[in-house]
Amino acid sequence: MNDCLFCRIARHDIPSKIEYEDDRVVAFHDIGPKAPTHLLIIPKKHLATLNEIGEADRDLLGHLILKASELARRLGHGEKGYRLVANCQADAGQSVFHVHFHLLGGRRFTWPPG
Ligand code: 5GP
Ligand code: ZN
Repeated sequence: MNDCLFCRIARHDIPSKIEYEDDRVVAFHDIGPKAPTHLLIIPKKHLATLNEIGEADRDLLGHLILKASELARRLGHGEKGYRLVANCQADAGQSVFHVHFHLLGGRRFTWPPG
């Protein structure tokens, strides 16, 4: 057991609004949404940053992105579009050190990001 915030959310130790869950990933609503849809999709396995992903995580990360794509379409964003982003380390703005992908949809986004 560890006290990582997202591990605790994955264990249902800390409540969150869960949109999807299976044996390997959890998708829950961000506490400070930056778009009408703002989900965080995490592996249940604790990996602090994208730097820690290895060959052994290939299927897990493929599964996570597949579920993100299914969720985006289920929530109605498939046609107009959505953004799937992961921040790695401080310069990218990572604030929780458990790998997570933001699924943002329901409005128009600008590029490049700030
Ligand atoms: P990062 O800045 O690391 O890319 O993203 C972390 C995200 O986690 C932020 O968008 C933040 O709003 C969200 N977050 C932080 N603490 C909690 C929490 O306790 N519950 C939920 N649902 N989201 C959280
Ligand atoms: Zn963790």
